Amino acid sequence: MVVLTYHKIKQKSEFEKQIQYLSEHYQIVDEFTESKTAQRQLIITADDGDPSFYYHAFPILKKYKIPAILFVITDLINSQKAFWWDEFEYYLGREEGNKKAWEVKTWANSKREAFLEELRNTSSKPLLKYKQLTTAQLKEMQEAGIRIANHSHTHPMFDQCTDQELEWEIKSSIEILKDLGFTHDVFAYPNGNYSELAEERLKEFGIKQAFLFDHKIHKSSLNLLRISRLAVNDNTPMWKFKLILSGWHTKLLPITKGFAKLKNKL
Ligand SMILES: [Zn+2]
Repeated sequence: MVVLTYHKIKQKSEFEKQIQYLSEHYQIVDEFTESKTAQRQLIITADDGDPSFYYHAFPILKKYKIPAILFVITDLINSQKAFWWDEFEYYLGREEGNKKAWEVKTWANSKREAFLEELRNTSSKPLLKYKQLTTAQLKEMQEAGIRIANHSHTHPMFDQCTDQELEWEIKSSIEILKDLGFTHDVFAYPNGNYSELAEERLKEFGIKQAFLFDHKIHKSSLNLLRISRLAVNDNTPMWKFKLILSGWHTKLLPITKGFAKLKNKL
């Protein structure tokens, strides 16, 4: 079974071409199964619950009657809070902010949070606001076949969280999703980062399936708390989109990366 991951969907036209192609070549479903008939099945997922999904992806999916899973960050629903990685770009500028956002993903979660809080407090800029999706918009999508599922409460790196932080993240997100009538027990690791401890806690709190972000096609009979996904964008050109779906892109990537490294040395 192939699982695709999108994030922001900035434009409709390329996304529509991709959806058209997928609907002609795959049976698109919204639940991961490991049966043999699942070979030509595909799941479309999108992480973070960016409003662009509602404005650009949802109308196309509805038009073609295609299901998908949207993994949302529960603390952001109905809020004006920005994604924390966007805050880095806002305060530090595009290049520096982007670099920093990657760097802090390797820090202990409390250190990342403290650094961000300091940036907010010391900056002369007003707090960054971003109109997130509302419950009504999520419900509207759910009614039209989009599964709204769990992408944690505040999107920390799960491999950088303490046991207590993990528990709070998992408990809070489950509670909110349950209250709203969404899918609480299907989870996508923020940034794909996982650890043995995180996996144990997810299991304990009743999470049945957890998705990674490792740019691979899932091999059957592996751990259901480590389901592989392929990364795509709404602007991935069609030739590359097909290559990614074939699984060849994953195999070629280390070679091309190695080649780029070699070229840098020369
Ligand atoms: Zn995410």
